[in-house]
Amino acid sequence: MIPGARLIILGRQGAGKGTQCVRLSRHYVVPHISTGDMLRAAVRERTELGLMAKEIMDAGGLVGDDIMIGLVEERLGRPDASTRGYILDGFPRTVTQAEALDEITADRPIHVVIDLDVPREIVLERISARRVCRDCGTNYTASGHDPSPWICDVCGGDVTQRDDDTPDAVNNRLDLYESQTSPLIEHYQLKGSLVVVNGVGHPDHVFKRLTDVVEGRR
Ligand code: AMP
Repeated sequence: MIPGARLIILGRQGAGKGTQCVRLSRHYVVPHISTGDMLRAAVRERTELGLMAKEIMDAGGLVGDDIMIGLVEERLGRPDASTRGYILDGFPRTVTQAEALDEITADRPIHVVIDLDVPREIVLERISARRVCRDCGTNYTASGHDPSPWICDVCGGDVTQRDDDTPDAVNNRLDLYESQTSPLIEHYQLKGSLVVVNGVGHPDHVFKRLTDVVEGRR
């Protein structure tokens, strides 16, 4: 990807977005900006934001637009994002956030918005097997024959199920995706920046589809 490229990955939670974004960020040496990771860090650090966000996140709800927009504006203003570009993961999630992002990025517009498309039924299966490192966020898939305790290969942290991966929270998140986030597809379609990528299949194949789109936009 050209240095300074700016990318958004949309898609249902559990579509494999996080893993693919980490991989893309390593491949292209571009910062991966995940609002979910930022909030989880705030929860771990017990900041005021973290204490407020935890309850909402555990219930599968959405943290307020103003807070999220402020957080992202600050992050995109940092030198690494302005020079290297970025991969935005988990933001925007509402039309209000997308409109604010249009303003924030008016001088340096987003190059491509990818909708990583995975049907709801497949996402539900994946989330029930999803495990994540509490420290670095690396994702794993449970097989039923997993080590206990499970130690992260990347950083040595604890690998566990996310607190917000309970069935109720997952269903709530998927409902919110349909009502709040899927209208963004049209928002970016109208702007001409949307590309839909099939997110079903082996992660290596999905990664190849993603890099093909990014290379195609060089
Ligand atoms: P994620 O890791 O992207 O699945 O995000 C985990 C949780 O963080 C979500 O279920 C929301 O509660 C919250 N969150 C992350 N990003 C946003 C956002 N852009 N707007 C509102 N809430 C968010």
